[in-house]
Amino acid sequence: MTIRLFGCVCGQFNSPGAGLGMAAERVSVPIPFYVVEHPDGVALFDCGLHAGLTDAEDPYRVALRTQDLDSTVEADELAAAHLERLDIDPARVRYVVLSHLHFDHAGGLHQLPNATVVVQKREWEAGFDEGMARRYFLPRRFYDLGHQVKLVDGEHDLFGDGAVTLHPSFGHTPGHQSMRVRSAMGDHILVGDACYNCEAAETRNFPEYSDHAAMNRSLDGLLAMREEGTVMVFGHDPGQWGERPVLPSVRT
Ligand SMILES: [Zn+2]
Repeated sequence: MTIRLFGCVCGQFNSPGAGLGMAAERVSVPIPFYVVEHPDGVALFDCGLHAGLTDAEDPYRVALRTQDLDSTVEADELAAAHLERLDIDPARVRYVVLSHLHFDHAGGLHQLPNATVVVQKREWEAGFDEGMARRYFLPRRFYDLGHQVKLVDGEHDLFGDGAVTLHPSFGHTPGHQSMRVRSAMGDHILVGDACYNCEAAETRNFPEYSDHAAMNRSLDGLLAMREEGTVMVFGHDPGQWGERPVLPSVRT
């Protein structure tokens, strides 16, 4: 069986561009997550939004709107729906690698009951530290669900064959990580929110609450990992999805 990588979009953010490092006044950006089919199991990189957020009156959405940030999502864009279209039973997902614990990356965990969560130790610890969780907006509601958790500290080879490797890219949050996938679709570095989009990769216009020095070091490190033909897939880049997605995806 070959290794295959798919990109899925689970709703979008509608907000002022500035918060996402973009010059445009208002933007609508995708919330992607990724599915890796490997002979030793299915792994996700992030898992999109919680099903509760399909309701405009969900308390988390209401709170976000007070900061002029809305996240809209339809039921057929949730992780479970994408997996079913790929003919993957959500209950047999083996790993969910979390880039970090923000709600738009960890929210779908409740739909993946048997997965082992793979996260950087320092991210997980921040998620359970009241002060850090508040400072970095880590909402426990979405990840403290009793999953098996594998804590990694630094680089990690997920299946032990070099095909799917995790790379710390701290700064956006204390233990953010990115993922490299070598698959039948080519070589991809799934940057996550170590950089939101191509524009921010140039301007280094990072979110206010993040550690900018660490983000610069992390992004430099990820860019240095590129080989000929490597595609960088950014965290929320509208130019990489839409009509011509950067990765094969199954349309809703
Ligand atoms: Zn994000």
